[in-house]
Amino acid sequence: MTRSLADALHPFTEPATPLSASERKRLQDADRNTLWKPFTQMAGYVEGVPLILREGRGNWLRDIDGRTFLDGVSSLWVNVHGHSHPLIVQRIREQLDTLDHATMLGPSTLPAVELAERLVAIAPGNGALSRVFYSDSGSTAVEIAVKMAYQFFAQHRDPAFRKRDVFVSMKNAYHGDTLGSVSVGGMDLFHQIYSPLLFSTRQAPAPDPYHQAFGQNVEEHEAECLAALATIFDECRDRVAGLIMEPLVQGAAGMLRHSPQFLASAAALAKERGALLIIDEVATGFGRSGTMFACDQAGVVPDLLCLAKGITGGVLPLAATLATEEVYSGFLGDHSEYRTFFHGHSYTGNPLACAAALASLEVFEEERTLERLSPRLVQLEDWLKQIGEHAHVGDIRRLGVMTGIELVRDRRTGEAFDSKLRVGNRVIEAAMERGVLIRPLGDVVILMPPLSITREELDLLCAATLESIESVAASL
Ligand code: PMP
Repeated sequence: MTRSLADALHPFTEPATPLSASERKRLQDADRNTLWKPFTQMAGYVEGVPLILREGRGNWLRDIDGRTFLDGVSSLWVNVHGHSHPLIVQRIREQLDTLDHATMLGPSTLPAVELAERLVAIAPGNGALSRVFYSDSGSTAVEIAVKMAYQFFAQHRDPAFRKRDVFVSMKNAYHGDTLGSVSVGGMDLFHQIYSPLLFSTRQAPAPDPYHQAFGQNVEEHEAECLAALATIFDECRDRVAGLIMEPLVQGAAGMLRHSPQFLASAAALAKERGALLIIDEVATGFGRSGTMFACDQAGVVPDLLCLAKGITGGVLPLAATLATEEVYSGFLGDHSEYRTFFHGHSYTGNPLACAAALASLEVFEEERTLERLSPRLVQLEDWLKQIGEHAHVGDIRRLGVMTGIELVRDRRTGEAFDSKLRVGNRVIEAAMERGVLIRPLGDVVILMPPLSITREELDLLCAATLESIESVAASL
């Protein structure tokens, strides 16, 4: 039923340009024989027919066979206003005709300056995060924040601060895939194997009531986590350089939620103990949390803020690490002092990406994106209540549009399915048949629609998800 709804809703009015059978086969063979895809077990993958996407429009994608899919995870949490939004496309084209790329090691470019000004103005703290350092991905935004915090203390003018070299990270955290961002990560499945290559951190327990404190009062559980964090600070005395956190939701861990009070208390603790607070809004930033930034919901202003993913509306790779004037000024000095932040990538501050980011912020204003999102969030919550009644839905966790639906064998005890059953993956395959592209994290089905999702599209996304859960559960 939902497949026909998908066929009725997608915006591709003209038929897909047909590919000859031989061209299609050539592409699929090349895909199987040459690509190595991220976070993908290629052994299983090469046996199937690869999905090769060709077009994007609005909240939809179309593949080389002309099949249409609702982009239910915003192309891995990046898309904000839909694909090929006319204003973003226009601004990138204009920029491309003007200046494609120039280095920022020394000079800057018009869009890079203008975007920096806008980011400072909209970031938490009303201008307190006054310095913008660009890079290209969420991982590098974090890598940079960690290096900045380390160097800030290592070269502190007051020798008493120079012993601050410890980072406190959170269990289940995910901050990216480069070795520095993996070091502050806390997901054993992704991170354990690299442990000999990583710097060590003090890892604090993160709130995870569903798995760690089943049936326990959530406030009590959070209070215990906070007490453990305080103990780590006590044990480290004045050695902590930075506390790094994903605000309000640990996305890659399966949308594990904590309260704004927990975030605010952890932030206050870091500040009280003289450590820098590094907040990673790579996933939550730019409206995904329901507000522009998740920190806004807790009144938290970090010392270092990491932004990426949705910054360009999900169109081009760009990241920014924002710092306070205090952190920035720690890097100032005479050339001969070598206090410089010796870090920078070839494409840092790429003008096309900055133009896209400026256009995306313009769309936020013109289309009142966040205001228009609020009825969608109510609609999503209503659907989740219905989905939550299913016998194999153990827990549903949501912040803004960021949604995790955890499937379990026994919802009374929270007992998980045998991972060999690949329940999460099977639900995603069933959703594809219904015209919806989503991606699981283990047995947590993730929904992360673009902020531009319409009422009808959100109904489709949720109905297809529920139908897919029902059909997979019935087949077990
Ligand atoms: N931080 C968080 C919170 C993320 O969710 C992610 C990506 N999912 C990253 C960092 C890494 O971003 P990227 O994939 O752009 O390197």
